[in-house]
Amino acid sequence: MTVTEPIIEELIKICGAKYVLHDDDSMADFLTDWRGDYHGAAAAVIQPATSAEVAAIVSLANRRNTPIVPQGGNTSLCGGATPDDSGTAIIISMGRLNKLRTFDHKSQTITVEAGCILGDIQRAAAKHDLLFPLDLGARGTCQIGGNLSTNAGGLNVLRYGTARQLCLGLEVVMPDGRMLNLLSSLKKDNTGYDLKDLFIGAEGTLGVITAATLQLFPAPKAAATAWVSVTGINAAIDLLNAAQSASGGTVAAFEIMPKSVVENVLRHFPNITCPLKPIPEFSCLVEIASTAERDAAAADDGTMPLNAVIQHLLAEAMEQGWVNDAAIAQNQNQRQALWDLREIIPLSEVKAGKAFKSDISIPLEHIAAFYAEAAAKVTAIIPKVNIFAFGHLGDGNLHYNLSPPDSSPDSPHESKDDADFQLAFIKFENVLMELLKKYGGSISAEHGIGQKKRHLLAAAKDPAALTMMAVIKTAIDPKAIMNPGKII
Ligand code: FAD
Repeated sequence: MTVTEPIIEELIKICGAKYVLHDDDSMADFLTDWRGDYHGAAAAVIQPATSAEVAAIVSLANRRNTPIVPQGGNTSLCGGATPDDSGTAIIISMGRLNKLRTFDHKSQTITVEAGCILGDIQRAAAKHDLLFPLDLGARGTCQIGGNLSTNAGGLNVLRYGTARQLCLGLEVVMPDGRMLNLLSSLKKDNTGYDLKDLFIGAEGTLGVITAATLQLFPAPKAAATAWVSVTGINAAIDLLNAAQSASGGTVAAFEIMPKSVVENVLRHFPNITCPLKPIPEFSCLVEIASTAERDAAAADDGTMPLNAVIQHLLAEAMEQGWVNDAAIAQNQNQRQALWDLREIIPLSEVKAGKAFKSDISIPLEHIAAFYAEAAAKVTAIIPKVNIFAFGHLGDGNLHYNLSPPDSSPDSPHESKDDADFQLAFIKFENVLMELLKKYGGSISAEHGIGQKKRHLLAAAKDPAALTMMAVIKTAIDPKAIMNPGKII
């Protein structure tokens, strides 16, 4: 159905003309995803300021059968927030719903509107000496509504869980415009189905999240961070488990990077350095953190208690043959330099040119076998391919990315080589699916399905689970107006 001018007039009545964008120039930024892989069209982009305005917009769209695409910071890595190219959808851009509603020191919770930027929520918690532990590279742009809708993971899942585990309550506008008030700071509430969990990870296909109550935690007072050369993937997992025991379960991050990934960072960012030379075959970034003041105080000889824990751990790991070498950050600048090397990886991949990207998870006990088998199969399909497989090893999550040999951002994307490489990618995607089945993995660890992985879902999921998902979608959104073309 075509959206006609009258809907624009009615939208203007709800939000005011300034907040209803409908010319090509002002809508352009909302119609393309972060990576520039997806481009869509829309009838209008609406920027409501309150939950009531969102409800009025959705109710109007429902009456007119107008598709709705909720959009947060637009940092989705699977085209989740980009409309199709029909031009019939309206995008609800959530950035003006950015108020902190309540802060509760006793229960250590915060209730925020969905358009609050993740970094702003982290800073609001820090003002009260508390931590909101969800953390990812897009923290300065992504919004909590988007984080919850994708059930984002990121750097601290090992210790604090994904966005789902950090959310106690939600306020949602349903596809018919009704408000569903599930806001609560209760940790225990066994009164039937947990409806909020339906909307977390739903990628805007079941409703618009307008506010959330989030769990906060005591702020860390000390951290010990090391860049470690491990002797292999299984050795890294042994090190992870030993680190959990030695630190009392306070490993905050455990990231893995093969040599190819570190080399690619150094190639494109000469100001970044690797603390170990030669560059290890496999590097791990290991961080343990403590909320106890006593761990922040230096001993008489100047050593920090947590650094002593990590030093002792690494010495034992060397004896076990898990670790070749390690560099422990001695101050905040050195710690930041280690994190810079890790966090610049996505941008260094963009600089490496067109690539095949995936975001998979595999049970820890099978990661090493998966890694070896995948490498053998991919190099048989594309000799000399760059395998950039790195990620949150502690969560069994690898970003298994491939870049053509000698690719660069200036590579002509429409060349014959490029077409050959696209074909090879498709072959590798099939191999990846087989391996994930064999090892019990998932096609999406944390980025979601969006439009990018929709074609893979039927083969990846239990048929009964798919039927349940379709039943839920039809029950909640019978007109199928919420974010069409995403997930199912
Ligand atoms: P958008 O991109 O705007 O939307 C994402 C999806 O949520 C879409 O389907 C959209 O329709 C829906 N949506 C948005 N807001 C709402 C709402 N209020 N109600 C209902 N639906 C809504 N992800 C990780 O999990 N871990 C990482 O480590 C990680 N690192 C990243 C690093 C970079 C540099 C970038 C660019 C992205 C990264 N991501 C990561 C991807 C991640 O999914 C997003 O950054 C973030 O969670 C999405 O938030 P957003 O506000 O940008 O949502």
